[in-house]
Amino acid sequence: MDIMALNIYGLSEIMGPGVAMECTEGREGMHVFEDHFLVETINPDTGEVLPPGAMGELVFTTLTKEAFPLIRYRTRDISHIITAPCRCGRTHQRMDRVTGRSDDMLIIRGVNVFPSQIEAVLVGIQGLEPHYQLIVDRVGTLDTLEVQVEVSDAFFSNADEVRVLQKIKKRINKDLKDFLGITAKIKLVEPKSLQRFEGKASRVIDKR
Ligand SMILES: [Zn+2]
Repeated sequence: MDIMALNIYGLSEIMGPGVAMECTEGREGMHVFEDHFLVETINPDTGEVLPPGAMGELVFTTLTKEAFPLIRYRTRDISHIITAPCRCGRTHQRMDRVTGRSDDMLIIRGVNVFPSQIEAVLVGIQGLEPHYQLIVDRVGTLDTLEVQVEVSDAFFSNADEVRVLQKIKKRINKDLKDFLGITAKIKLVEPKSLQRFEGKASRVIDKR
């Protein structure tokens, strides 16, 4: 349709969309509107401010907002500031797209993984709905991960159901291993059987 789609970033606590946005020329990271917001990146565990370009949690201070200013507001969003100049010529710093949430990061058998990465694997597989739940547990000294994901109506009512579902399961296992280096127990569930969330979803149940 000849429409250019641009990423925009915002937080309802600050002002909603409009804290940072891609330019049409560069489209590599979102320029933070630094005349209104001061951005910092911190280590989410220690609160230490990280050097520009390091991956960490974004922290914003509003510079012009009245009545409800926010000072060093922790977003829980993990990203990094792109330090290279943008080809559009604007000098406002850019932030890369958010890769996960600091309160969401899972460490499973020593591998750091964000639910958003698992989601990216799931949406790439035909027959699945974008509704999933992750259950993390520990058996003995080993971390376990169970991925519950809804199957599309069409696939669930297929005559060859069992065979089709086995195939989907195998594919999920392979992709999780190939792309993220993790192994998980896969549980395919009926359409519309998992809880729905509004806004920022909490898809992880960590029993450890
Ligand atoms: Zn630009």
